[in-house]
Amino acid sequence: MNGERSLPLHVQKAVVGRALVYQVLDLHQVPLEDAGYGLLWTAVRDRLQTSTAVQLAFDPPGSLGSYLNQLGADLRGALSFFCRDAERACAALLDDIARVLAEAGRAHDELLGTVFTDALEAAADVYYRHGLHDSQDMVKLVSTSFGHLHGSVQSELPIQLAATTYLQDLPEGPSANVDVVINPDLLDELTVFSLPYVMLHECICHVLQGPWQAERVQADAASRFAEGWMDVVAYVVHQAMDNPRRAETAGPGLLDTLRTAARQEAAEKVHRARYAQTRDRAWAQRAMGARAAWSIVALMGRVPEGGSDPSAFVELSVKLNTSSFTNEQRDLFVTGVHKATLQGQADPCLEQQVRTYLKAHDLEYLVHNILRLFT
Ligand SMILES: [Zn+2]
Repeated sequence: MNGERSLPLHVQKAVVGRALVYQVLDLHQVPLEDAGYGLLWTAVRDRLQTSTAVQLAFDPPGSLGSYLNQLGADLRGALSFFCRDAERACAALLDDIARVLAEAGRAHDELLGTVFTDALEAAADVYYRHGLHDSQDMVKLVSTSFGHLHGSVQSELPIQLAATTYLQDLPEGPSANVDVVINPDLLDELTVFSLPYVMLHECICHVLQGPWQAERVQADAASRFAEGWMDVVAYVVHQAMDNPRRAETAGPGLLDTLRTAARQEAAEKVHRARYAQTRDRAWAQRAMGARAAWSIVALMGRVPEGGSDPSAFVELSVKLNTSSFTNEQRDLFVTGVHKATLQGQADPCLEQQVRTYLKAHDLEYLVHNILRLFT
């Protein structure tokens, strides 16, 4: 990756502290609630919010590592126990918090930057696996920047973070910057747990958009294909992904949710929110793209040439995203598929086209025929 701008240290402390403790809290919530100690769990979460808010507001000096250790001790101090059973029940939670914070304090990785690098590598790998071998070179020039604001983040998503990709092709090749803005004051579990999916969306839908030569044209912010159809690809890939923790990395990653399903549940909520009705008409364009994509996933799962796993859909999509078809043609393709599946059932002509595609994998032939038949 080319370079990055990271958050100032006092914001990093709060963001990293919250992200790590949320993971541990999530793991222990159900057993503690079940044992009747839900109030103690809530007390630790409340102290986390207050303690990180104080740190953000007053910016005391010290390294990230020393802050994280201090935070662990502070959270332990939040609880006073009324009996030995309660103390025993909470010991595992407090010990896990202290351990995870201490490990993160010793890690040399820039934790937020690693989150993005992991998503970028995973995205390049998806393209590579489907025969687009230049994807590894494509991501070499990509950079990321992290910023923060105090106040609400402008986004159609229910999270305290907005990520935007800007294509910035250079004479030496295609490049992009992914700009991430975080509201640290309101950083919550949904924002933290959905971050791998949100980053994967930027990389799969936008950073790797083709054709892979200089002067790419950025897709419209309300593009049916880029924001609707391709988002389904990012979602499908995310839900099938193992935890992004890389075997060779020591210490915790910010996003290696201790409970894998926590990451998947958060991604599902945020993915659905992209198509919820808003004042802005763009939601309908995203919804059209997503519905068309899910119809193709279902159709490919049903016909004899297809299969139950969505890899043929992913292959078709990444090839279309890197093809020489223009953004307008990609959007029109989506419109055609949507029209051919609007009645709940796929039009027999569309089914025939998809079956032919699954046998021959001829993308040009498929797209031209969909445009001719349905638009
Ligand atoms: Zn997008």
